[in-house]
Amino acid sequence: METRDPIAPVARLVTLRRELHAFPEVSGEEVGTAACLREFFVPCHPARLLDNLGGHGLAVVFDSPEPDRGPTVALRAELDALPIQETADHDHASQRDGVAHLCGHDGHMAMLCGVALGLQERPLRRGRLVLLFQPAEETGEGARAVCADPRWQDLDADYVFALHNLPGYPLGHVLLRTGPFCAGSVGLVIRLEGRTSHAAYPEKGRSPANAMSRLLTELVTLPLDLERAGVLALVTVVHARLGEVAFGTTPGEAEIMATLRSDDEAVLEDLQARAVALAGNVADEEGLRCALDWVDEFPVTENEDLAVAVADRAALAAGLSIDEPDESPFRWSEDFGWFTRQTSGAVIGVGSGENQPGLHAPDFDFPDELLPVGLRFWDALIEELGLR
Ligand SMILES: [Zn+2]
Repeated sequence: METRDPIAPVARLVTLRRELHAFPEVSGEEVGTAACLREFFVPCHPARLLDNLGGHGLAVVFDSPEPDRGPTVALRAELDALPIQETADHDHASQRDGVAHLCGHDGHMAMLCGVALGLQERPLRRGRLVLLFQPAEETGEGARAVCADPRWQDLDADYVFALHNLPGYPLGHVLLRTGPFCAGSVGLVIRLEGRTSHAAYPEKGRSPANAMSRLLTELVTLPLDLERAGVLALVTVVHARLGEVAFGTTPGEAEIMATLRSDDEAVLEDLQARAVALAGNVADEEGLRCALDWVDEFPVTENEDLAVAVADRAALAAGLSIDEPDESPFRWSEDFGWFTRQTSGAVIGVGSGENQPGLHAPDFDFPDELLPVGLRFWDALIEELGLR
């Protein structure tokens, strides 16, 4: 008969989670976090450790005795923290000014580490398990870069899953949804160029002030007809700048930034086309040059039916409550959509407490009580997929 001591690994995971929390690194700079995980996994004797995947990403590959006689399943966590000052003052508070794990990625990583510990007691029987720690989730760049890496493509995963904690929902409740789980979004940078002049002779320059104020109000009204039709379509102006701080000069250039989002790729493309047309028209009418840039692209996260059905059975087997999120789909974005463009998969939500501060709030801290819940879920999922 198998015996397990779930307490010892959980205590170790709490320590690890708090260590990761104390030394956060922003997107693209996760060198220390990846090194810490590498150190953790080497004694677990994985078949392979793939470093520097899409940046500082790490994939830890565990083979069963029959790796080709079963599915290859990837479980994904994120390495990066946020460029936000933490306000909580617990013992494991961030040791780095202006950087903190305020999205719970520290907890997501620790849960995957727990999966590896579980394999030591109950090894895989069939197939292959990949624990993927992707970099730069918060900027939307990491998953895309991992997907472009031939070493990731060679793994040829049959399924990819991610677990994300969700504040506002009861602790440990699993939140499932088929189809779009969260919205896609893309950042638009509009640069307008006119001509400076002395502030005493504004008529001799070409200020983009009027064009900028038009864009500030007109951009956000672009999707009004779609919103009225019940479609999730949103344009949010996030930043604007006009000229320089110089009281003797009329401004010669302006920059406006907005985020476009929808849960439907076609709607997102439509919004992009509308924004391009608007910026072009306004610039023409005001006699300005206009250049556009697209940044921070997050595809719609599409949960595949079959993957959600497997997750549903796993949650049941793990004895966890299952809910549907009340905000469906979520308006925020996740770069997991890059994976589900290639591979069957799903993001699964897990409630991190009804009174938990929101994701990215300065006082957010991943609740350690969620670590054993995540472990139970991942364990059951591996079982459901026939890996042991
Ligand atoms: Zn996150």
